[in-house]
Amino acid sequence: MSDPTPLVLLVEDEPQMRRFLRATLQNHGYRLHEAVNAAEALALANQWNPDLVLLDLGLPDMDGLEVTRRLRDWTQVPILILSARGQEADKVSALDMGADDYLTKPFGAGELLARMRVALRHSAKTAEAESAFDFGDVHIDLARRQVLKAGQLVHLTPLEYKLLVLLVKHAGKVITHRQLLREVWGPNASSQTHYLRVYMAQLRSKLEADSARPRFLTTEAGVGYRLRTEEPAGASSESSPP
Ligand code: CA
Repeated sequence: MSDPTPLVLLVEDEPQMRRFLRATLQNHGYRLHEAVNAAEALALANQWNPDLVLLDLGLPDMDGLEVTRRLRDWTQVPILILSARGQEADKVSALDMGADDYLTKPFGAGELLARMRVALRHSAKTAEAESAFDFGDVHIDLARRQVLKAGQLVHLTPLEYKLLVLLVKHAGKVITHRQLLREVWGPNASSQTHYLRVYMAQLRSKLEADSARPRFLTTEAGVGYRLRTEEPAGASSESSPP
């Protein structure tokens, strides 16, 4: 990248929401282009090849799902979905289609910026194979396939380990039930969400300080799971219009 300032494509038809997003991004030094519908979004993405796309699901001319699908035909640019309450199913479909993460309106500026940082960081080092990963007092040695908690070796079953590694590979981002099941248990298991509940509970009891209130291995209700790498941003006073 010659210009280190990330270029964001903002796709949102509601003027009030667009104003909030524009102000937030500009205040934090991002460059941006704005699209108010899907046709404009696809044209601008093609023209500018942005580093990140913020995509509203409810657009006047085309579904945000279809925009995600068309972008994924030719680019791996991180896509952050902006969804309204009640678009739960669409949000999950968008993630399954290759979107990276989502925010449900209304959301705070701090949360938005944190998710953008994660998505940008993740895309910058996708190619770079990492050999270790840490969260809390947990250390995962991916080369030796060992997990330590406070310096003590933790025994994980092969499926627990596989699930953990998948969360680590997508650290900071939400992964849908379907994606997790398909990757860990195979394509025929994609509706067996109870497997996930059982195995996530096991991972939490082995790795979290309080498995009833997990700080890292978190549930995204109705969507999937996320390995949190940053503390949730709650300090910001600004928040998006609902
Ligand atoms: Ca909309």
